[in-house]
Amino acid sequence: MTDSPAEPTVFERIVAREIPARIVAETDRVIAFHDIAPKAPVHVIVTTKTADYRDIVGLAAGDPALLAELVAVAQGVAAELGDGEFRLVFNTGASAGQTVFHVHAHVLAGGLEEGTLA
Ligand code: 5GP
Repeated sequence: MTDSPAEPTVFERIVAREIPARIVAETDRVIAFHDIAPKAPVHVIVTTKTADYRDIVGLAAGDPALLAELVAVAQGVAAELGDGEFRLVFNTGASAGQTVFHVHAHVLAGGLEEGTLA
């Protein structure tokens, strides 16, 4: 069962190489690329190649191994681009700030202010 939207999301189009992105890591099922509007010195989006899941809740229920792979890729990106420490954010729902309904994590790193969430 899937919960993907009918229209391709911008991330689906990045996965298909229909629009460019600065890709930093890739596995068979996961891809990571720099956010177009960075909110931290390191701000990378890690997403699934499948568009089957709109958010982390669906992914965790539907394919927990893929969620674990996404987290492992996030950790690798943080180690590659920074000191290996990172904040992982999954906006879940429009009122929580989600704008792209294709499950993804924000990897934020490289000099985050202590005590803040963004
Ligand atoms: P959300 O708000 O859904 O959690 O995160 C969506 C993120 O995708 C935003 O941080 C936004 O800057 C990023 N984004 C939107 N369109 C593009 C794009 O075309 N390319 C890249 N690299 N990032 C994008």
